Amino acid sequence: MAFDSIFSSPLGPPACEKDAKALQFIEEMTQNADAVQQNVLAEILNQNAQTEYLKRFNLDGIMDRDTFKSVIPMITYEDLQPLIQRIANGDRSPILSAHPISEFLTSSGTSAGERKLMPTIKEELDRRQLLYSLLMPVMNLYVKGLDKGKGLYFLFVKSETKTPGGLLARPVLTSYYKSEHFKTRPYDPFNVYTSPNEAILCADSFQSMYTQMLCGLYESEQVLRVGAVFASGLLRAIRFLQLNWPQLTHDIRTGSLNTKVTDPAIQECMAQVLRPDPDLADFIAKECAKENWKGIITTIWPNTKYLDVIVTGAMAQYIPTLDYYSGGLPLACTMYASSECYFGLNLTPMSKPSQVSYTIMPNMAYFEFLPHGPNSSKHARKLVDLADVEIGKEYELVITTYSGLCRYRVGDILRVTGFYNSAPQFHFVRRKNVLLSIDSDKTDEAELQKAVENASQILQEFNTSVVEYTSYADTNTIPGHYVMYWELLVKDPTNFPNEKVLSQCCLVMEESLNSVYRQCRVADNSIGPLEIRVVKSGTFEELMDYAISRGASINQYKVPRCVTFTPVMELLDSRVISVHFSPSLPHWTPERRR
Ligand code: AMP
Repeated sequence: MAFDSIFSSPLGPPACEKDAKALQFIEEMTQNADAVQQNVLAEILNQNAQTEYLKRFNLDGIMDRDTFKSVIPMITYEDLQPLIQRIANGDRSPILSAHPISEFLTSSGTSAGERKLMPTIKEELDRRQLLYSLLMPVMNLYVKGLDKGKGLYFLFVKSETKTPGGLLARPVLTSYYKSEHFKTRPYDPFNVYTSPNEAILCADSFQSMYTQMLCGLYESEQVLRVGAVFASGLLRAIRFLQLNWPQLTHDIRTGSLNTKVTDPAIQECMAQVLRPDPDLADFIAKECAKENWKGIITTIWPNTKYLDVIVTGAMAQYIPTLDYYSGGLPLACTMYASSECYFGLNLTPMSKPSQVSYTIMPNMAYFEFLPHGPNSSKHARKLVDLADVEIGKEYELVITTYSGLCRYRVGDILRVTGFYNSAPQFHFVRRKNVLLSIDSDKTDEAELQKAVENASQILQEFNTSVVEYTSYADTNTIPGHYVMYWELLVKDPTNFPNEKVLSQCCLVMEESLNSVYRQCRVADNSIGPLEIRVVKSGTFEELMDYAISRGASINQYKVPRCVTFTPVMELLDSRVISVHFSPSLPHWTPERRR
């Protein structure tokens, strides 16, 4: 039925009445971005006026935007840490938010090696749900017939802990998948998943992935889109298929379930799904047995129209691999979100990854922008409102949320690419201070430095030190892994540190990295063992010569702590004298170290 005659939208003709309402909502929010923002700020300040945090600033009930801007400081997580710790320890007084803190969302951004704890309130779940509800109506404008099949999405819950005061602490997606919003979502023909809830909600990552893959294979003809939250997650699923297709096809051939899947809820729901299908099993086995997996996604799921994964920011490194496995299917980046707050969505989700822009939805929080970049002098570093950002300029995102974050620096750098109505659209440039990232890990320069220092202590008894180092995130392997290039100064050549010592250095480095890195290594298996490549003495001097030959200033030259430029990596690789890998997994438990 053509709903466009009844409900039209400047974004395009909606696919159904529900979509028409969602598109109408986007219109309303974006046409009045500044007015919506003004209201959001008033609501937040009104709601939280009596919190300990806001009372600090003696606002005496004056809560207008100008007063807010002149009185409330911009802050980072570290500024809030003592207050957050009190909440975690069980203080239920209104510290940041007038509404009770329902749980902590554990960010993949870390502070002192541990995930940041983001306090959240119950109603935020509704706000997140609202943003999710806008995604398919927008997608339906660009891809027709998504109600005629299903989505194969690899979605996972992660472990959760309790704070000393008894509040749950878990990643935002775990919180969402375990919520009634997700578990009892009404049937929507445009949004049917092949993965049963029982598989998504199984905390054992092998059983969860195995079942989701098995269901996706059974329904291979129905699958119209394949996705995961981030690109790294989808590649992990492909890797899983590479490793497990013999058992998966055995199950399909015989209609039985791998005995490693022991979760009773999964077993019960899979009893309805499993049936012997030898033809399908033969087809999948024949394709998977081939050496060349180019285009495997469209071979196995022939009706896939696009991949739904985030490939912006640090995930851009996976685009070539995804193109290889999918034969160049469109990559749709649908939303931009964080533990602190869900920000916005991509109104043209089929655009090329390099051209993706996210439209921040003005109803989600109060957004301000700190000018960023070489031309932003100290005077110019005044926070700018959402409706006042300028096209082409870069900003750091600063948010004030219903949960009680006030003028909080998220750490993301965004560039304005245009406007939809009066709402700006942003290209995600990068996250500040991230040197290495494979999955959700974000390792900064200081963490890497500390890890090298810790590892080099082992070398002291061999009278050896690390004179220079650099690194790179190697995503040619699946899972990807950190590679360190070390140049050693060996003062006693008769006592050169051997393979055992250097591989131990790899492990010590891993032990020193933050808990998100170690969780990816241990629980998610999404990062492989860290590698040290020892290079010939003099290599880093050659690196400097090379940089200078390309125009770097000799006075200002600093060894890059991370390299991505192919000629530089080729130079380093041509000087490697030995290669060492971490011999075992680092230590990780869901509990925080402090
Ligand atoms: P977390 O707090 O662990 O949920 O991570 C949130 C962060 O992930 C954001 O602040 C961004 O740095 C990054 N992120 C989220 N969505 C996107 C996206 N669509 N593109 C690039 N980076 C993203």
